[in-house]
Amino acid sequence: MGELPVMETFYTIQGEGYYAGYPAYFIRLGGCDIGCHWCDVKESWDSEMHPKKTVTEIVSNIPEQVKLAVITGGEPCMYDLTILTQELKKREIQTNLETSGAYEIMGDFDWICLSPKKRKLPLDSSLQKANELKVVIYNQDDFNFAEFFGSKITDSCKRFLQVEWSKRETMMQNIIDYSLANPQWAISVQIHKYLKIR
Ligand code: SF4
Repeated sequence: MGELPVMETFYTIQGEGYYAGYPAYFIRLGGCDIGCHWCDVKESWDSEMHPKKTVTEIVSNIPEQVKLAVITGGEPCMYDLTILTQELKKREIQTNLETSGAYEIMGDFDWICLSPKKRKLPLDSSLQKANELKVVIYNQDDFNFAEFFGSKITDSCKRFLQVEWSKRETMMQNIIDYSLANPQWAISVQIHKYLKIR
């Protein structure tokens, strides 16, 4: 069965976006060529640094009580995730994806969170599949970036603005003001950082 480079797996509370607050098993795959300067998982970038594991190995290590898996990275869509998502579903585990959308999405996902990045823009096909658009706000120009992609998603896609953590002191109030004036945008707060959990 297919192999994937796995940086880490852990069971925690999802801190961001639409599923914030839900217990979730994170599968963080290694490999990303996007290079966001504020990336907080730079150690994920080089896929060679992370051991390849079979899908069977990955899925069999998931605790029995898990109901929701979040496949993240790195950029997980550098890989075909069809087999992984199929095997998760056989275990009746919900399959959520976190992606930049820069690569074709291959897999059977129940929920797709797309967070666009300036260094490698999302594909239109990925934007059309997104259930959730989550835009990281680092500076004022990022509101325009958010609106640009907000015009390319489906009507049912949820919209979130999330402050880049190091800018929370200067940008958070701007995000609150923006959301109040443009209520189609909700705020994603990284609750795991306030709870001091992973
Ligand atoms: Fe980091 Fe994600 Fe940007 Fe890749 S896409 S550099 S993993 S923030």
